[in-house]
Amino acid sequence: MDFEYTPEQLQLRKSVREFAEAEIGPHVMEWDEAQTFPLEVVRKLGQLGYMGAIFPEELGGAGLGYIEYSIVIEELSRVDGSVGIILAAHTSLCSNHIFKMGSDEQRRRYLPKLGAGEWIGCWSLTEPEAGSDAAGTRTRAVNEDGCWVLNGAKTFTTNAHYADVCVAMAVTDRAAAQHGISAFIIDKGTAGFRAGKKENKLGLRASATGEVIFENCRLGPDQMLGKPNEGFVDSLKVLDGGRISIAALAIGMAQGAYDAALRYAKLRKQFGRPISEFQAIQHKLVDMAVELDAARLLTYRAAWMLDRGMRVTRESSMAKLFASEAAVRIANEAVQIHGGYGFIKDYVVEKLYLDQRVTEIYEGTSGIQRLVIAPAVLGK
Ligand SMILES: Cc1cc2nc3c(=O)[nH]c(=O)nc-3n(C[C@H](O)[C@H](O)[C@H](O)COP(=O)(O)OP(=O)(O)OC[C@H]3O[C@@H](n4cnc5c(N)ncnc54)[C@H](O)[C@@H]3O)c2cc1C
Repeated sequence: MDFEYTPEQLQLRKSVREFAEAEIGPHVMEWDEAQTFPLEVVRKLGQLGYMGAIFPEELGGAGLGYIEYSIVIEELSRVDGSVGIILAAHTSLCSNHIFKMGSDEQRRRYLPKLGAGEWIGCWSLTEPEAGSDAAGTRTRAVNEDGCWVLNGAKTFTTNAHYADVCVAMAVTDRAAAQHGISAFIIDKGTAGFRAGKKENKLGLRASATGEVIFENCRLGPDQMLGKPNEGFVDSLKVLDGGRISIAALAIGMAQGAYDAALRYAKLRKQFGRPISEFQAIQHKLVDMAVELDAARLLTYRAAWMLDRGMRVTRESSMAKLFASEAAVRIANEAVQIHGGYGFIKDYVVEKLYLDQRVTEIYEGTSGIQRLVIAPAVLGK
């Protein structure tokens, strides 16, 4: 075992941190309050190679592994989780589904533009009646004269309103239940395909989340992604990697909250001394530091295994479950250390506290992660 970062990983962390602090930091609150999607930053992230971090260079990617990808998401999310989730949904859900299951032609057509940030990707599995029970998908795809005609609506799709490419799951054989769902790639501008309502959210307000609607949306046979009827099963494999990115997102935001709390505790004086000298505050900071380290170790273990082609369903679920729940606790304590100021928008911990909450919900709630991990624990 080797617990050291490589010099390249340290340099990557430094570069992304500098980029995030210079290009994102000054605008965070303005974008959040106005719900402004940071399109310009996304394009720049593409130019820097971060929008295709985990894909091979011959497909326009940066050829990095999941540990490096986690570092990128952590450092962006430390400053703004909205940017982190935009990149995560684009990369490990949409682009990775195309990379893992796509034909050579599909990979060549989509991945270079997605990796360069010229195109933005979204991934639509969830529906109003099919959330945790995503196999209950109702959107259907009917074969007509060799083409697929999609009808239905997806909900809560990250990047829906800015996406040039959408990967969506639809029922192709209702009788076969979860083995009757297929994945499709839909290009922006395709007739019968549009984004619907954009949600007004508790947190991560600069990211766009909303409906994707299909109304007699006709797709050629080459727009099916992966094998027919295997789209749901493939989605679960895609989520194995996606959950690592959500763990990294939670860690990044928790790091931002911890850094702010530590800084504040050293500066804020009460009873004639910095509050960091009170043991009660020190214990909070220690618990936060321990949880951050533990979350990172679980996440990098899953990332390391994935990079070596190992199955990570249990490990990525454990990382996502622990990191998101720990991050919510860390953000909560960061607000507490700030006292009343933690409740005020001038202090970053207020926003981090709100943004953090959703990490326990998307890409499978904490309850669903426990369902995923349980068979491994029980040896089934
Ligand atoms: C900001 C945001 C961005 C998102 N981005 C995307 C995206 O890009 N693409 C996408 O496809 N989806 C996306 N989602 C959807 C997200 O993955 C779902 O919201 C999530 O999976 C939960 O589904 P649900 O909201 O329908 O909750 P429900 O499934 O209705 O769950 C409600 C509650 O019941 C619990 N529950 C459900 N079933 C069980 C069970 N069997 N045992 C125990 N407890 C259970 C859950 O844990 C939860 O506490 C996003 C959601 C949000 C909020």
